[in-house]
Amino acid sequence: MHKPVLQNAATDRTGTTPGVVPLSIAPETPGPIYVGSDVYRRAAFGNNHPLNIVRHSAVLDLVEMLGWLSEKTYQASERATVEQLREFHDRDYIDALQYAESEGQVAPEVRERYNIGTLENPVFEGLFERASMTVGGSILAAKLACAGHIVFHPSGGTHHGRPDRASGFCYFNDPVYAINTFLEQGRQKVFYVDLDAHHGDGVEAAFESEPRVMTVSVHEEERWPYSGAAGKSGQARNLPVPKGVNDSELNYLMEEAILPLAEDFSVDAVVICCGADCLAGDPLSGMMLSNVALWQAVDQLIALGQPTVILGGGGYNPWTVTRYWAGLWGRISGQEIPESLPDKAVEFMRSMECDLIDEEDVDEAWLTTMADSPYPGPIRNAVKSVASLVAPGNRSRMKGRKHDLA
Ligand SMILES: [Zn+2]
Repeated sequence: MHKPVLQNAATDRTGTTPGVVPLSIAPETPGPIYVGSDVYRRAAFGNNHPLNIVRHSAVLDLVEMLGWLSEKTYQASERATVEQLREFHDRDYIDALQYAESEGQVAPEVRERYNIGTLENPVFEGLFERASMTVGGSILAAKLACAGHIVFHPSGGTHHGRPDRASGFCYFNDPVYAINTFLEQGRQKVFYVDLDAHHGDGVEAAFESEPRVMTVSVHEEERWPYSGAAGKSGQARNLPVPKGVNDSELNYLMEEAILPLAEDFSVDAVVICCGADCLAGDPLSGMMLSNVALWQAVDQLIALGQPTVILGGGGYNPWTVTRYWAGLWGRISGQEIPESLPDKAVEFMRSMECDLIDEEDVDEAWLTTMADSPYPGPIRNAVKSVASLVAPGNRSRMKGRKHDLA
């Protein structure tokens, strides 16, 4: 298809012969893709649940207001089929979830066995469609990533889901499907990095003895689910951090532990869980990161140059979640992050509500800007110590250990 505008732009930039599009910026070069669905616009989780706030729809609305989305960059996801769900989740659990939704209630023994119909994992209308859409979105995201796109699927990131039960607001586990899709597509070294405030326990458990996957989780110590102790365990590398973790500390963990691990593991695919509960201002964690530091960490992982899927995750402050993920898409898709939000966007941000945050605690900057002020600080010994526990050691020692295990 002839695209005169694009060709002229290419010619201007490179000074090459008119009509000849240089390969590096050829129109067919895969660009970034946003995977989403209108399913997430429907009410979910019910009243009094921390996820009863706008998140996915708000991110989409904000990026649309900023003109950062087009038909070319947005792709609607499809639901995972029951057969696909059975590849990781137990048949009886899937059946129980479907039945619970159709009945609108849960028998005590079902509640006990599958951890559904609880305050944590309520049964609500549209639950099954929503949860299977999230899995389908992550499968699609990994396939698109294998075709060369950087793929953003912010509705993904249900990292606590277990094969046989719901856990931590997660019914299924879509990151597992993103990773498995990479493996099915022939990737041999999938690197999973979890930057959510909570330990990525479900993903870790799924791959703890899978040599083709390494799971790395940065999370706040002494917080639910209380797993993910510092160090190495099977294919897992865990970096629990003390309360109040700052931007300099995240950067330290990236430079001293996570990026060296990626190199040592010779990664050929990357899945990132970008839970927004690690941001300053989140009501369910005590981490103090700025979105700018997180954007940079994701940039560093994208720069590994491998097929990459970027998922969402937790996040219970609608303002900070929306700014982080909308800005993340902006960064991925090459947009300039605006100094201040346009009036329409400010009005939109002002319309949000959150039961967990008092009105006087709503920071004016959350309503009028996108990028946080950076939050640098001292790098505490506890942070240095977790980095050294997981950083790849010298190769002879690693080899010796492997030999011992064999
Ligand atoms: Zn979380």
